[in-house]
Formats: sequence, C-alpha cells, structure tokens
Amino acid sequence: MTHTGPGVIPGPGPATAPGAAKAAGHSGGSARRMPARPPGEAEGTGEIVQVGDAALRVRLDGFLDAAEPELIAFRRDLHANPELANNEFRTTERIASRLKEAGLEPRILPRGTGLYCDIGPEDGYTVALRADIDALPLQDEKAHAPYRSTVPGVAHACGHDVHTAMVLGAGLFLARQAEAGLLPGRVRLLFQPAEEMPGGALDVIAAGGIAGVDRAFALHCDPRVEVGRLGLRTGAITAACDKVYVKVTGPGGHTARPHLTADLVYALAKIVTELPAALSRRVDPRSSLSLVWGRVAAGSVANAIPDDGVAEGTIRCLDDEAWRRAPEMMRALLQSVASAYDVEASLEYVRGVPPTVNEAVSVDLFRDAATQVLGEEGVVPTPQSLGGEDFGWYLESIPGALARLGVRAPGSSAEYDLHRGDFDVDERCVAVGVRVLAATALTALWDGRLDAGPDAPVGGAAEGAALS
Ligand SMILES: [Zn+2]
Ligand SMILES: [Zn+2]
Repeated sequence: MTHTGPGVIPGPGPATAPGAAKAAGHSGGSARRMPARPPGEAEGTGEIVQVGDAALRVRLDGFLDAAEPELIAFRRDLHANPELANNEFRTTERIASRLKEAGLEPRILPRGTGLYCDIGPEDGYTVALRADIDALPLQDEKAHAPYRSTVPGVAHACGHDVHTAMVLGAGLFLARQAEAGLLPGRVRLLFQPAEEMPGGALDVIAAGGIAGVDRAFALHCDPRVEVGRLGLRTGAITAACDKVYVKVTGPGGHTARPHLTADLVYALAKIVTELPAALSRRVDPRSSLSLVWGRVAAGSVANAIPDDGVAEGTIRCLDDEAWRRAPEMMRALLQSVASAYDVEASLEYVRGVPPTVNEAVSVDLFRDAATQVLGEEGVVPTPQSLGGEDFGWYLESIPGALARLGVRAPGSSAEYDLHRGDFDVDERCVAVGVRVLAATALTALWDGRLDAGPDAPVGGAAEGAALS
C-alpha cells in the first residue's frame, strides 16, 4: 500500500494550480490538477490528474442545490415507513427505483431485501460505500415531527434512514461524475439489510456483495457530535459482544454428604468467579476482554445438591485478536476449573459481531476527504464505543473505516441518543454526509489508481468530457 497521506487532494486553494495544464488527456484542466506530492514523487505520474478540492466543492454544491430537498424527503419517507430487519421490502424497492431512474442497475440481494449497485467500469479499483437500511422494534416517541413513524412499535431510532439517504445521494452524484468521465474507478453502493439483528453483513458477503471491493467506508449518525463534523478513529471503533451459555452437570445428593456428590453448586460458583478473572489474565489488558454473567441458576431447595446448573453471560472485547481467541480460551479455562471440582461442563459460545477495526490508511482517506469538504475544524476524534456494529464483518476481509457523522443541532440542549424513541437528527447532516462520502470515494479511488499506475482505467464516459 502506498497511500500518499494528506496532500493527495491539496488543501483549499485556487482551482487552477500550477500543473493543471499537465492534466494530459483531459479537458477541463482548469478545474483539475496534479496531486500535491513531495518533490520527486510526481515523476512518472504525469498522466494522472487529481480532482481539485475547490472544483469538487463547486460540483457538490451544484448537485446538492437540487438534490438536498429530494434526499431529505427520501429520508422522511423512510422514517415514516420504517421496516424491521430482513423485512425492508418497501425500502429496498424505493432505493432500487431511484437508482434505476438515474440509469443505474441495482442488484437486489437473494432474500429480496437490501441491494448493491455499481457505478463505473467493471474491473476498476473499487470502493464501497455502505448504508444499513433496517429500523428498530421501538415506538417512535417524537411529538411533533410530521415524518414520525406510521408503524406502531417500529422506528428508525438508529439513523439508518439517514445513512440510506446519504449513500443514495453520494451515489447519484458519483454517477454524474462517471457520465462526465470523472470517476477514476468503480464505486459500489451497498444498502445492507438487518444490521440490528445483527448479521445482514454476513448475508451480503455470502451473496458476493463485497467481491471485488478494495476498500469500504461507512458513516454512522452520532447524536453527541454537532452537524458539520466527522468523528474519526484509527483501530477499533466499536466493540465485540458474544454470548456464552455454560451448563454444568454432576451427581447430586444430600447436602449432609457433599463428598458423595460433585457438590455442583460450589463448583458452579467457582466457575462463575474464576473464569472472568482467569480470562482477563490471558489477554492484553488493553483489549478490555470482559466476561460478565447475567444469569446463574442451580438447585431448588436448601438441603439438596442439584445435578445440573447454568451460567449465562456476555463477553465484550475491544480488540480483534483477543476476540478471535476468546472461545478457545473460554473452553479451556472452563474445562480446567470443572475437572478440578469433578463436574462435567459444556459451553455454547454464540458469536455476535466482531469489533469494527478501522484501517489507518482508510481513516487517512476519510480525513483527507472530510478536510476538503468540511474544513479542518470539521474533523474531530471520536472514542471507541462498547456498542456493536456489523460493518466489522466486512473489515474482517477488506480494509476500510467507519466514521461518526455529527447529527446534533448546534447549541441544542436536547439529549437525543441512538436506540431511543425520540431520536432525531438535524437534517443538514444528510448533505454533509453526501459531501463526505462522495469526496471519500473519489479520494480513495485516486489513491487506488495511483497504486495501480497511470494506465489504470478511468470510469464512465470518454476522458475529456466536460465537467458536470
Ligand atoms: Zn443501532
Ligand atoms: Zn445503527
């Protein structure tokens, strides 16, 4: 990987910069220029032109003048008609028909919910922009919003309606760029079902939804951050959460004669207290691997030792490597404690989602792009959350990053949070998200194209087409 770091797309400056005239093979050079590179590195890349920041901002402004009201209306329509995981048939149909209207060819996933849609050449360097489209089984408690949910007990309380509108908007903009010969690779719009289940990401992967994708990006609404800002973090940004079910068995009997039994309650208590401590000593403490029991049950009466018992809990983890090792460590420790007390123990280990681990280069690309369209003050650090996010499944096999998009109205004292019935956003975030996603896709495509060399194909119509 030879990501060029900050400077791939130069900071604010005149649209026509020295070197723009070298935009060989392209007309419209006044709006495009060479990527800024350290002296000496420009050699051999003379054919490659870069989308200048000012030109991109102008094009995004022009696009959003007309598209922003439509995208907000689109978001409101989804918000008023939310659909639960794997039932997003109407949502899927709405997205697909809007993409078809733009001349694109969406592909609906085998279950009939969720879709993906490619823009640009079939074999180009490919960047995916992912939205999730499902709602939550929650009552919409907003009092006044005219677009509040019309479906009892179902609400877009995690902002997936916003994610969908943003990726759609970025896709419509990028499709225009492709028509104008300004898309330096392929973009895949990924509208994923069932994020909240979770598991929709696994269905997308099984259906070939990330086959051929080189890098993936996603935004998630963050009500703690003001609109116009993007929260970035390298490394894990969400956590893993798995469930564990332990069953212990052994001969029961009278509490007067524990030596003739397995003294199962005592053994179970040992398992419950020793496993969390032992597990945390087996991994790097920075992984914050923690086993916490939520249910322990055995026996029915004070003077009889039962012959079975259960302990159920969750394992949360901030680190991918520790998460991978957790089942095997848990199994080994359980067996060693159980055998010390002469009971049989079995473990059912149910995987949740992995941590979403943001790749450093992808975060740099997000930062370069967001700085370009939001300014430097638009990029802020964000902490890792203990929540789960199934975007992590994609990043198990391809590099990418998830960023947090500010959706809070500036100066607002309202305490909105995700997964609450009154969750809402400052809808200006939709246009911000379109700008960030479109700029990120272009930045990442140029980065991939620079890697591939100057002969890599440029998507869309013939080079030299007029700027749209
Ligand atoms: Zn959620
Ligand atoms: Zn969500």
